[in-house]
Amino acid sequence: MTAFCCPVCGNELFKTPGGSACRNGHSFDAARSGYFNLLLSSSAHAHGDDKAMLRSRRAFLEKGYYRPLLEALCRILEEKLPQESALLDAGCGEGYYTAGIASYLKEKGKAVNVLGIDIAKAAVDMTAKRMPQGKFAVASVYKIPLADNACDAVLSVFSPNAAAEYRRVLKPGGVLLRVYPLKNHLYSLKKAVYETPTRNEEKGEIGAGFSEESVWEIKNKIFLSSAEEIGNLFAMTPYFHKTSEKDREKLLALSALETEAEFGVSLCRKV
Ligand SMILES: [Zn+2]
Repeated sequence: MTAFCCPVCGNELFKTPGGSACRNGHSFDAARSGYFNLLLSSSAHAHGDDKAMLRSRRAFLEKGYYRPLLEALCRILEEKLPQESALLDAGCGEGYYTAGIASYLKEKGKAVNVLGIDIAKAAVDMTAKRMPQGKFAVASVYKIPLADNACDAVLSVFSPNAAAEYRRVLKPGGVLLRVYPLKNHLYSLKKAVYETPTRNEEKGEIGAGFSEESVWEIKNKIFLSSAEEIGNLFAMTPYFHKTSEKDREKLLALSALETEAEFGVSLCRKV
């Protein structure tokens, strides 16, 4: 059996020589790196982050600039997860947080079944390659290929807040750990590029059927000392594709930049 459910009929998916199939004969390919492609063609237009963006993100994250956030997530999950548990990283990206959390929890002696999904095939491929022991699928956070009540925790780092679907896959009493940018996150980076930079919006609604138990704010300053690093950070932000050539040139002319890295972490329990 695989960890996942058939995205067509919801039945368990069993391993087959080429991938996986359910008892109704719906079958899905597995990639060489071990993940399953469970995205139905009707949602295939939403391809998620492209490869160049993912490479920039990996290069940036591997330098440890967002390590304080990773460490906070590790500590929170260590405290909140039962000894044997299942954790879904919903929108796992290239796997920086997924892999960091999995190895931390293992070191602490917790038996955590780590699962991850992302709509971007290239992202899931990168995650599966760095974590051969994990269970990953290309899928939408709005249609998660897991059974009801399958997880003890869902992690959502800058992913869409698909609260109803997160709630469905969580066990009663399970927790949703959501990371969102605070108002000033990357403000100095935006100020360096735009005439009229805007602050981020606040975290938005807590989904129905959740009660917020704790909120943390993780605030740091990061110092980027080369045009390449500044470019990598900018390329992984949502502003990248909305920026004019002229503003992009302004950014590329910078050789050093200090900016805010400010995250909110909200822990909501399924009620
Ligand atoms: Zn099926």
